[in-house]
Amino acid sequence: MTKVKVAINGYGTIGKRVADAVMLQDDMEIIGIAKTRPNFETVIAQEKGYPVYTLAERVGSMEKEGIEVAGTVEDMVEAADVVVDCTPGKVGVTNKELYEKAGVKAIWQGGEAHELAGCSFNAEANYEEALGKDFVRVVSCNTTGLCRVLSPLDNEFGVKKARVTLMRRSADPNDIKNGPINAIVPNPIKLPSHHGPDVKTVIPGIDVATTAVKLPTTLMHLHTINLELERECTAEDVENLLAEQSRVRFVGQGITSTAEIMELGKDLGRPRGDMWENCVWNESITMYEGELYFFQAIHQESDVIPENVDAIRAMMELESDGKRSIAETNAKMGI
Ligand code: NAD
Repeated sequence: MTKVKVAINGYGTIGKRVADAVMLQDDMEIIGIAKTRPNFETVIAQEKGYPVYTLAERVGSMEKEGIEVAGTVEDMVEAADVVVDCTPGKVGVTNKELYEKAGVKAIWQGGEAHELAGCSFNAEANYEEALGKDFVRVVSCNTTGLCRVLSPLDNEFGVKKARVTLMRRSADPNDIKNGPINAIVPNPIKLPSHHGPDVKTVIPGIDVATTAVKLPTTLMHLHTINLELERECTAEDVENLLAEQSRVRFVGQGITSTAEIMELGKDLGRPRGDMWENCVWNESITMYEGELYFFQAIHQESDVIPENVDAIRAMMELESDGKRSIAETNAKMGI
């Protein structure tokens, strides 16, 4: 089988994980990664055998540090069938012209606006919408986490109204620049937050409103979800439905915090200790005065990774059925 040629532009938290997940699949491969600085991640990318590309003006500084440069970002883009743009938020938008000029398909991440790609993606909620598309945006970690539960609940019971509080990690574990380190920050202060409208780019018409605060933690986000449903159901019905979702994992057995979930990821032998699934405390699933409540934790560094693999499969029309693509990605990644 000829494999789809995937390039990663921006090899940081998300980019390096997407690269490794793509290499686990039978129908796609990494033909290059683009990095701007010759740091430890660049060295490891090279050791893994990924051809390293960089900006034209950075070739010299890369080579000076002993990195073998395969070419410029333009060269990499020319050689690819699809580029997964994992540059920092608001940088990806500046690359659109490059992709258009090369006639290459591109995937952006949640740091970019919906309008950039015109198609915002979550495999469970709207895989079919991305079939054959040239440009797709894989929504942010929080939006991915929300779509994974709201979509099946809406299909099965009808979501009349969703109200969600997002307690967000303030920085990734490798980030030494962001905080707070000793405060709780309403973010944004203006309500509701942008996360609700972002969910609507994937599930149009759903009534969802969100508020968000940043906490001094790096591990995971935590959502308090409150839903009014159209059709009557019990907490057990909801638990049974969520149990069927392959990217939802129930946590219990002494797990009472995000710290223990991250320990579970390591104990499972996951690469980098990643937790690709939404972690729902099934004990928290409660019907109270006709409304549904539950808690879920979201590993911001990794939940969007399988979604990027599925987005590639949909755009390249390697698989027309979302459920089959999800199953294939999960099987290869070990979800
Ligand atoms: P990151 O800062 O960890 O990595 C970005 C990488 O891109 C770095 O290696 C940086 O050196 C490189 N880069 C910077 N400018 C570049 C350029 N002009 N060309 C090529 N490479 C360049 O960022 P990240 O956390 O991986 O985020 C990437 C995207 O994924 C953003 O849109 C972000 O919003 C989104 N996202 C991040 C998370 C998360 O929690 N980290 C979760 C979901 C989605």
